[in-house]
Amino acid sequence: MSYIDNIIAIIEKKDAGQPEFIQAAKEVLESLRIIVDQDSIYEKSGLLERLVEPERAIIFRVPWVDDAGKVQVNRGFRVQYNSAIGPYKGGLRFHPSVNISIIKFLGFEQTFKNSLTGLPMGGGKGGSDFDPKGKSDNEVMRFCQSFMTELYRHIGPDTDVPAGDIGVGGREIGFMYGQYKKIVNRFEGVLTGKGIGWGGSLARTEATGYGLIYIVEEYLKKIGDGFKGKTVAISGGGNVAIFAAQKVMSLGATVVSMSDSNGSIYHKAGLNLDTMKDIKIINRDRISKYADIHKDAVYTDVSKGRVWDIPCDIALPCATQNELLIDDAKKLVSNGCKIVGEGANMPTAMDATEYFLSKGVAFFPGKAANAGGVATSGLEMSQNSARLSWSFEEVDAKLNKIMANIFHSIDSAAKEYGKPGNFVLGANIAGFKKVAKAMMDQGVV
Ligand code: NDP
Repeated sequence: MSYIDNIIAIIEKKDAGQPEFIQAAKEVLESLRIIVDQDSIYEKSGLLERLVEPERAIIFRVPWVDDAGKVQVNRGFRVQYNSAIGPYKGGLRFHPSVNISIIKFLGFEQTFKNSLTGLPMGGGKGGSDFDPKGKSDNEVMRFCQSFMTELYRHIGPDTDVPAGDIGVGGREIGFMYGQYKKIVNRFEGVLTGKGIGWGGSLARTEATGYGLIYIVEEYLKKIGDGFKGKTVAISGGGNVAIFAAQKVMSLGATVVSMSDSNGSIYHKAGLNLDTMKDIKIINRDRISKYADIHKDAVYTDVSKGRVWDIPCDIALPCATQNELLIDDAKKLVSNGCKIVGEGANMPTAMDATEYFLSKGVAFFPGKAANAGGVATSGLEMSQNSARLSWSFEEVDAKLNKIMANIFHSIDSAAKEYGKPGNFVLGANIAGFKKVAKAMMDQGVV
């Protein structure tokens, strides 16, 4: 049995109840065969056994009192995956689906993503099965305070710097930061995605969506093309989806879809982003409302159709894991889709990814394509350490450069290892090499 097959067998046995983690780990490990099979040093130093095992995983109780005075209890997580190249860094997700498998998959992916940014950040992820949807601001605040009352002892500006993710935006980061500061009595850069008046970075809110467009733009430039006149299908209606739409529209593309967990909107004439922002950001409402306002738009309930059923040149899955399956991939390709960029983490199932690659679709995996968020979090950390604030334009220009660099590094790695145009392989190898070298340099720890 090869070294990689042995590692896959180990995780399939040890982590049998963690399908998302196994899926993410397998996808990376498959890409690494080409490196690991050539050099026995990896096996001798147990590099992969160490890589797939988080340095630390913390699970904790989060009790809080709802508006009716009843005590509620949620489960909190922080997985500190790998600190070989810097302090743990990665978001917090508040969603009822959160469990140890999902947090481990996200933390594992984050390790390679952070490496690709070129910034000194290790990988981590956390969150809770708490659902902020339908809760009052006071309930969200009490939950966030209770969550931070445990989390604070595990994090710090040089140890672990969490950020937002699904269900965690500016409001939640604010409540958590307030509680952290009250407990430790220090104003320091322990979270990113903070408000602009209290340590946040301009352009952090837009960064993941903008970064997704910048990496695809760099590819389009390379093939002598651009976004002008392209039709773009986007899934999700949150932070990543909205700012990806904003940037790609500004570059001349037409965005025709967006979705939430209940259903999707198809607006052939082009989505009105102001309406969408009012519904999803300001009113925290359901996306179906959009079709009440724009009568030429069609709303399809999730039980009746998929967001990927429509014709487009470019598809940007920006909602959640495993939201683009093999049948969706076939539909997209038969409808003329040529580029897929993952704004979300692991939105595409493995067989669907393979299908895209086999059909010559330019496929940008999340660990490269959505790295703009964490990269800008890294820039927020730099500003906090230097006690400086850069302008929107300065941060945006740095983000653009980081995404262009990521494109060139995954493109080069794909070529170097004999699979030109396979950005999945390129991203996994380029991300892995830096982390692996740091782990080797630092000995068996
Ligand atoms: P938000 O909470 O802002 O938005 C998430 C969106 O996805 C919502 O529209 C939500 O719909 C939808 N969604 C969630 N679960 C499902 C589901 N099971 N099926 C269909 N739709 C669903 O999150 P973000 O935009 O921040 O994150 C989206 C993705 O991007 C995630 O995978 C996240 O890990 C990834 N990401 C985010 C980064 C960031 O900076 N925010 C950075 C890098 C990656 P509903 O309103 O119905 O819940």
